Amino acid sequence: HQTSMKVGQGLVGTIAAEAKPLSLEEAQTHPAFAYFPETGEEIYHSFLGVPILRAGNTLGVLTVQNKTQRIYPEEEVEALQTVAMVVAELIASGELGQVATANAGVDLVKPRHENGIILAEGIGLGYVVLHEPRIVVKNLIADDTEFEINRLKRAIDSVRGAIDEMMLKGELASSGEHRDIMEAYRMFAHDRSWFSKMREAIQTGLTAEAAVERVQSDTRARFMRSSDAYIRDRLHDLEDLGYRLQCNLMGIDLSKRTEQLPDNAVLVARHMGPAALLDYNQKQLRGLVLEEGAITSHVSIVARALGFPAVGQIHGITSYAEPGDPIIVDGTNGSIYLRPTVEVEAAYAEKVRFRARRQAQYTAQRDKPAVTKDNVPVSLNLNAGLLVDLPHLKEAGAEGVGLFRTELMFMVSPRLLSVASQTRQYTQILDAAGDAPITFRSLDVGGDKPLPYIKFGAEENPAMGWRAIRLTLDRPALMRAQIRAMLKAASGRSLKIMFPMVSHVHEFDRCKAHVEHEKLYLRKHGIAPPKSLQLGAMVEVPSVLWSLDALCQKVDFLSVGTNDLMQFIFAVDRGNARLHGRIDNLHLTMLKVMQHIMITASRHNVPVTVCGEMAGKPLDAMALLALGYRSLSMSPSSVGPVKAMVLGLDVSLAERLVLDVLARNEEQIDMRKVLADFAHKHRVSVA
Ligand code: PEP
Ligand code: MG
Repeated sequence: HQTSMKVGQGLVGTIAAEAKPLSLEEAQTHPAFAYFPETGEEIYHSFLGVPILRAGNTLGVLTVQNKTQRIYPEEEVEALQTVAMVVAELIASGELGQVATANAGVDLVKPRHENGIILAEGIGLGYVVLHEPRIVVKNLIADDTEFEINRLKRAIDSVRGAIDEMMLKGELASSGEHRDIMEAYRMFAHDRSWFSKMREAIQTGLTAEAAVERVQSDTRARFMRSSDAYIRDRLHDLEDLGYRLQCNLMGIDLSKRTEQLPDNAVLVARHMGPAALLDYNQKQLRGLVLEEGAITSHVSIVARALGFPAVGQIHGITSYAEPGDPIIVDGTNGSIYLRPTVEVEAAYAEKVRFRARRQAQYTAQRDKPAVTKDNVPVSLNLNAGLLVDLPHLKEAGAEGVGLFRTELMFMVSPRLLSVASQTRQYTQILDAAGDAPITFRSLDVGGDKPLPYIKFGAEENPAMGWRAIRLTLDRPALMRAQIRAMLKAASGRSLKIMFPMVSHVHEFDRCKAHVEHEKLYLRKHGIAPPKSLQLGAMVEVPSVLWSLDALCQKVDFLSVGTNDLMQFIFAVDRGNARLHGRIDNLHLTMLKVMQHIMITASRHNVPVTVCGEMAGKPLDAMALLALGYRSLSMSPSSVGPVKAMVLGLDVSLAERLVLDVLARNEEQIDMRKVLADFAHKHRVSVA
């Protein structure tokens, strides 16, 4: 008498899909009812089904049916939910392992291979550490309801008190959007229905902590199904509250969390903020796995800056990964292996060794100057964005920082950075760089880089919207504060500033006017100006391609942002996974554009760097050298591979090849193949 139905099909499937109980006096009249003869269900009338939930994930559905027509009262629904919760824990602990496997539900023993998306490149082997570890409630059932309700009351009072105190204390007490978020959080904590739901759960025979778990699981399941992004965001607040409450009930000290990190830790979380990631000791981290997360999310940016692999969109992992489980994070293809088999582990260990060998080769060439076989020096620089990036300068053997994305420090901060705080940070960065030159880019927020404390409003095309200098020119106080802080930090030293998303020459003029104004401010206040100051523009909006001559007369240098330039020239959204790889960086059109920029800049003797992703890929970088570029800026992990290419290249040969292809102008040509063949023939390393 076995039968199967899909999630969403029939009554049971509906409960699984919606994660909500369903209580019916006459099951067969319900629109979702589906009749399967093998079940012999026609003799039953009333029906009650509840989801078996664990950590918000539906593991199964538990049902009872009656031959008589009857209404299941609220207490019976509650009672069945309590039974379902106990069943969920039995499944999760392996005691109902076979059932779980058969249902493809949770299994805490078997190896699992899951695919998600790449958040940060690399491969990491280690052991699961649950960020905000799911609390395993062992004591589920209690006899003394009154006692449990009192425990719950005390815990809630204490958590509420702690939150109120947090709100009153120092920085949070100031007004602003951050405070609004905290207010919403406090409102949840004081919400009566939240408490009464937990009290009802206790009345069905649960302990206080089990009641919190059940209500949290229920709420999570419902919130996760909401299509409203605002509601889903609020879930994080509510989860955090539930977590605090459980810690309080079970006597767990939250502050010890990051101190007890084992070596080779792989953090596993539903979601995580960038500040939380920076709280951990980076030396012990081998990777990060998130249930949510996008490539542009702040935590991914920080993971990339810290240089360890991260994978996102691994649904439900916090419910089936146990602390201490071995795990492999493959940030080269966006997948994870939890509890890997020995074969998989051996294969990955080999992969890691191979990468380490390659890394050792790169390290060996670290102190060699980047000069081609035909003696052409090439300047290799880093793209950076946080102080933690600076040690990479030495490690990778880069000359300087070609692009410092200042927006990252704004993104990891919960509030707008003051001039003083910016000055402090820029000073630290300049100190850490020593003699190595740094090119700071003025704030490039908006688009895919929102700031929680600036209202951007909804935009239909954020990439082409109110971002970068469009925003800072409209908010001159923001622009001025940043320039002032940079000038102060660089007092008596060299400073380079560049402006993103310049689309008209006069926009650059306006940026420059702000700098002049701030130079006056410094003079008035008796602060020494930078020893030398160079101002540049990014070439990343196609419109400036037709005003390059005029722009070159104004700037001290140019920097080509190929990521945005490609996006706008080909009208391919750089963040849209579906379009990923559709247009090759080495498309003939792109090469012609890059050639035009190089020729114009050379005519005016304006130095030009490429700082988009293109500069960090050995084959693409080879094409750039062939076009005459001599300065590239890239992520730290790209410096080694690109330097290996430079050392093995006879740039005059590559130049001849590329210029010849461009002169022939054959639209159909596969430039990637032409260049790969060239590299193979001349033994240039482009791996
Ligand atoms: C670019 O657009 O190529 C660039 C370097 O800037 P970002 O990636 O920060 O937009
Ligand atoms: Mg850009």
